[in-house]
Amino acid sequence: MSHGASIPEPNGGSQSAWLEAPGLSAVRGLVHGFTTRAAGSFSAGPPAGWPAAAGGRRLRLLRQVHGAAVVGPEHPDPLPEADAWAGRPPPGVLLGVRTADCVPVILCHPRTRTLAVVHAGWRGTAAGVVTSALEALGAPRQEVVAAVGPAIGGCCYEVGPEVVRALGPGPWATRAGRRWIVDLRGRVEAELVRAGVPPGRIERVGGCTGCGEGFFSHRARADTGRMLAFAGWREP
Ligand SMILES: [Zn+2]
Repeated sequence: MSHGASIPEPNGGSQSAWLEAPGLSAVRGLVHGFTTRAAGSFSAGPPAGWPAAAGGRRLRLLRQVHGAAVVGPEHPDPLPEADAWAGRPPPGVLLGVRTADCVPVILCHPRTRTLAVVHAGWRGTAAGVVTSALEALGAPRQEVVAAVGPAIGGCCYEVGPEVVRALGPGPWATRAGRRWIVDLRGRVEAELVRAGVPPGRIERVGGCTGCGEGFFSHRARADTGRMLAFAGWREP
């Protein structure tokens, strides 16, 4: 994991405003990141100071509903109802999704410059949002570069059996008495691999939002803040 721009903290230190995936950083012209608490909350849109950090680029967001709908950057609605973007945004436009504990995923096909940015909570994952985004990307799966951002980890994500029923059994779900511990990022990564993305092209970025430092977590701290996962192409 590498780090994006730093934002000064009140105590005089500084924390990276976003985290980057080395595999995506290596893609020429790509701008991407998974923001941390230091960038501020995106729950009501971009926080103060963000436009400067993002180089003044235009940020497009979604009205997220934990479904599997995917929209393209040409969608006329300023805030489309969907949980994933897929397509080829014009240079200077960033596609974003907002998460606290859900899994943010960025997919990139460098040759055709197509991108997908996905919000995958357990409901959306069970509904197939990851595979829907890959299909909408329309690129050869073995050439896709993927990054799975900060999300609630297998250390902290305790759920009822209904969640495991929805996600399906697998190594991502471990029984703990009447409850289950789920590694949602593991489930998302397994789905990418099953769909044909090579495991060596899938990177996990950042830690657990529940017990890790520097993240918003709805489950662990009842935060209302949201982090941003974003991707787009640099201006020529
Ligand atoms: Zn944790």
